[in-house]
Amino acid sequence: IQPIHVIGGGLAGSEATWQIASAGVPVILHEMRGVPGVKTDAHHTDGLAELVCSNSFRSDDWEHNAVGLLHQEMRELGSIIMASAHDHQVPAGGALAVDRDGFSQAVTAKLEAHPLVTIEREEIAGLPPEEWDSVIVATGPLTSPALAEAILKLTGEESLSFFDAIAPIVHADSIDFDIAWRQSRYDKEGPGGDAAAYVNCPMNKEQYDAFIDALIDGPKAEFKEWENVPYFDGCLPIEVMAERGRETLRHGPMKPVGLTNPRDPLVKAHAIVQLRQDNALGTLFNIVGFQTKLKHGAQAETFRMIPGLQNAQFARLGGLHRNTYLNSPHLLDRQLRMKSMPRLRFAGQVTGVEGYVESAATGLLAGRLAAAERLGKALDAPAAHTALGALVEHITGGHLDGAKFQPMNINYGLLPPLEAPKVDEDGKKIPLKERGRAKKRLMSIRALEALKAWRDAA
Ligand code: FAD
Repeated sequence: IQPIHVIGGGLAGSEATWQIASAGVPVILHEMRGVPGVKTDAHHTDGLAELVCSNSFRSDDWEHNAVGLLHQEMRELGSIIMASAHDHQVPAGGALAVDRDGFSQAVTAKLEAHPLVTIEREEIAGLPPEEWDSVIVATGPLTSPALAEAILKLTGEESLSFFDAIAPIVHADSIDFDIAWRQSRYDKEGPGGDAAAYVNCPMNKEQYDAFIDALIDGPKAEFKEWENVPYFDGCLPIEVMAERGRETLRHGPMKPVGLTNPRDPLVKAHAIVQLRQDNALGTLFNIVGFQTKLKHGAQAETFRMIPGLQNAQFARLGGLHRNTYLNSPHLLDRQLRMKSMPRLRFAGQVTGVEGYVESAATGLLAGRLAAAERLGKALDAPAAHTALGALVEHITGGHLDGAKFQPMNINYGLLPPLEAPKVDEDGKKIPLKERGRAKKRLMSIRALEALKAWRDAA
C-alpha cells in the first residue's frame, strides 16, 4: 500500500498519523521542528503534539459540555491524543488537564514505535510533490510562510486569512427577548435575505456611559511579539474605538439609527448593540463590531451590561491573534479535501476550527477518511448531530452565505437543536432552570449513539 503523507506533527497531524497507521495504512509524518534553525513563534520543543499555551483540554463532562462530548467521541474512535491525555492527567476539577511534557513525549514515543509510521524532520516549503497522491496538511495557525504562500497561490488571495480579530458569539437562547428585538437596520435584508436578521439591544445614556467606562477601564490582553498584527480601521478592537472618543461607538457599531424598538417606538435609544445570526441553525449570534482584546473574564462581565444580554452565555469570547486558516466552506468538501486539488486534505486549526481538542478531532477524521479512501472503502463524515460531524459541518457548510467564516470552538449551538425536555425519564417535571442542562444531556446521548453507529458501520 502506498503511504499517506501528513504535514505537521501538532495536535491534528499526530492524531491523523495514528488513525491512518491504526487502519493498517503506512504513513509518513513530516514535521519541521527538529530541523536546526527551523521553529515557530509559539512552540518550544521538538516534541510532537506540543501544547503551545494552556495545558487544558477543557471540560471532560460529556453529558453537559460539548467539548467533553468531543472527548468521548474521540475516545470511542481510539484517539491517541485522548489516551495520552488520560495517562498524563493532572488534577483540574472537571477539566481534563495534562502534564504537557509527559503528554507530548507519550504521543511522540507511541508514533515513533508504530511499525507503519515514519517520521521525517523536514519543512515542506511549498506544495507537496505531485507523486504524493494523498496528503493531509495539518500545519496549524503558524503554518510556515513558504507553505502558507504556496497554499495562498493555490486558493487565491481571499482564501487564506491572516487573522486579525474576533467578536464574541452568544447562544441565541440566552438573549432576553423581553428587551431585545429582531430587525435589520432600515429593514434591509440581512444575511440569508431576512429583513429581521439582526437582534437589537437598546441602551439609554446612563447605560452607554457605564459601558464605555467599563470598556476603557477593563483589563486588556497583552500582545506577545508573535501577535504583533497590524489591525485595520475596519476591525479595530472595540475598546480602542472607545478610547478614541466617548461618542465614537455611538457613531460606529452602536449607532441607534434605522431601528425602532417595538416596545418603545417613540423613544430613540441612545445607542444600540446589534447581533448578527452566526450559523445556519440560528442558534448562535455574534455581536457586530465587538472584536476585542479585553481579557475573557472582563468581556463576559462587560458584555452582560448590555440590556438583553444580562444572562448571555458565550459560545466564544472575542480575541485578537495571528491565525492562518482557510476559507474552508468555499475550499473544502465534506471529506476535508481541497475541491480544486483533492489529493490534499486539511486538518486542525488551519481548517478554521479553534482549540487543541477540535484540532485533534479534525485530524482524527481526516486520518480516518484518508485511510478509508486508500483502502477503497466509502466513508462519509459522521452525521451533523455528532460533535465530530458538527465540526465538519461548521467548516464545510454550516455558516451563512456571505457571512465571514471565523474559527470556532465546538459548542452545542453547532449541533441541530432539540426541544428542551419538560419531564425527565421517570416522567417527573424538570424545573425550568434545569431544562437547558437536560437538553444538553439528550443532545450528547443522541450524538454518542450516532457516532458509535458510524464507527461500527465503517
Ligand atoms: P499545531 O499544533 O500548531 O501543529 C502544527 C505543526 O505543523 C507544528 O508542529 C509545526 O511545527 C508544523 N509545521 C508548520 N508548517 C510546517 C511545514 N511547512 N512543514 C512541516 N511542518 C510544519 N488552543 C487551546 O485549546 N488552548 C490554548 O491555550 C491555545 N493557545 C494557543 C496559543 C497560541 C500562541 C496559538 C498560536 C494557538 C493556541 N491555541 C490554543 C489554538 C490551537 O488549538 C493550537 O494552535 C493547536 O496547537 C492547533 O493544532 P494544530 O495541529 O492545528 O497545529
